[in-house]
Amino acid sequence: MAVDRLYSLLERLGNLLRTEERAAGLRHGLQPVHLQALRYLQSCNRYSNTPAALTEYLGLTKGTVSQTLLLLEEKGLLRKEADTEDRRVVHLHLTDAGRTVLKEAIPPALFKQALAGLPGGGEALEEALTGLLRGVQAANAQRSFGACSTCKHFRREGPGRFRCGMTQEPLSREDSVLLCREHEAVPPGH
Ligand code: SF4
Repeated sequence: MAVDRLYSLLERLGNLLRTEERAAGLRHGLQPVHLQALRYLQSCNRYSNTPAALTEYLGLTKGTVSQTLLLLEEKGLLRKEADTEDRRVVHLHLTDAGRTVLKEAIPPALFKQALAGLPGGGEALEEALTGLLRGVQAANAQRSFGACSTCKHFRREGPGRFRCGMTQEPLSREDSVLLCREHEAVPPGH
């Protein structure tokens, strides 16, 4: 396999997308990291919308993430809410303004156009890249932050009824597609 070629392709794609993202963010006075934080918070579940989980997901320092959250809060793009059971824990929620900015900026229009031109709308590519990401995360012993329905703790109890086998809490259909900090991939062959 052409390892160098694949790496160069991914690197080039990453750089191009980051440039598009930077341009889209600048229209709102935001850097790529601000958009990435908003995007994560839009896609994650209720166990994962904390500053600590965001820090892990972005792979940045606590200080950088605090600055990011401060700016997003000042701009009215997110709000903080104390946990109902443990007041020391803070949950981060996008505001309507945050959702609007994100919808305009990500994914960049160029990316959507290019993807639409791929056979099957890029399904095979999604599968291959997901496998690649899982491999890199496993090698680094990093959390997978996968979608809930692909987790080994995910239980189907009936039509549209799901439960988290770890917390024993019920999960909705909407929950089932969100990213989770506690996600553990189903082992191969199961
Ligand atoms: S089933 Fe897994 S991914 Fe879903 S909420 Fe539970 S731990 Fe998280």
